[in-house]
Amino acid sequence: MNILIIYAHPNHQSFNGAILQQVKTHLNPKHQVQILDLYAEKFDPLLRFDEDQLRRDLDKDPEMEKYRQLISWADHLIWIFPIWWGGMPAILKGFIDRVFASGFAYSYKGMGMQGHLKGKTAWIISTHNTPGFFTGFLQDYGRVLKNQVLGMCGIKPCQLTSLAYLRGTSYEKRQKMLAIIGQQAQKI
Ligand code: FAD
Repeated sequence: MNILIIYAHPNHQSFNGAILQQVKTHLNPKHQVQILDLYAEKFDPLLRFDEDQLRRDLDKDPEMEKYRQLISWADHLIWIFPIWWGGMPAILKGFIDRVFASGFAYSYKGMGMQGHLKGKTAWIISTHNTPGFFTGFLQDYGRVLKNQVLGMCGIKPCQLTSLAYLRGTSYEKRQKMLAIIGQQAQKI
């Protein structure tokens, strides 16, 4: 299987960096794996369109061609990012705005949308500091990414792993979280 890991954290020494390492080392070597590190890429997250550069042409934006090819290549997308202000990091939001354009990732059909990325699956791993008890009530952008982005584009099933209350957990508990991530990666 072709696996694309999309990683959105500025610091490789972070817990998100440890998750990335853990996933990488536990994926079965039979898979083809590519890593898209949005900060290392210095990805420009600003979506621009106007009278000269039309929104309808965003699916052909030459700057995004490399990323469209990566998404097309992948059978399975693994997303790793922290929750910032209830959302995903701006660099990741901008990646979706610019790459998952109409015509490439979906098209409008009747009152709804038709996903163009069917047949692909995903795993979202997000981290945050809110105690797990509250996250049931709050909007979690892992869920938004799963249902309102990937699901709409036809990418399903999508597994969601939300690692809660990092600031309040012990080192041992965080190591256990990483071990579980490793076990889940091994199962792919
Ligand atoms: P780090 O800060 O790198 O690490 C977290 C802890 O894990 C630290 O104690 C670190 O020492 C430890 N650690 C690192 N590596 C390892 C390892 N290998 N093994 C064991 N322990 C390790 N949270 C919310 O819940 N809701 C929000 O709306 C929200 N908004 C935010 C907005 C901003 C701008 C920022 C910067 C943070 C926000 N947060 C919010 C908190 C954020 O979600 C967490 O800081 C983030 O998820 C933690 O991930 P990290 O990779 O940055 O962790």
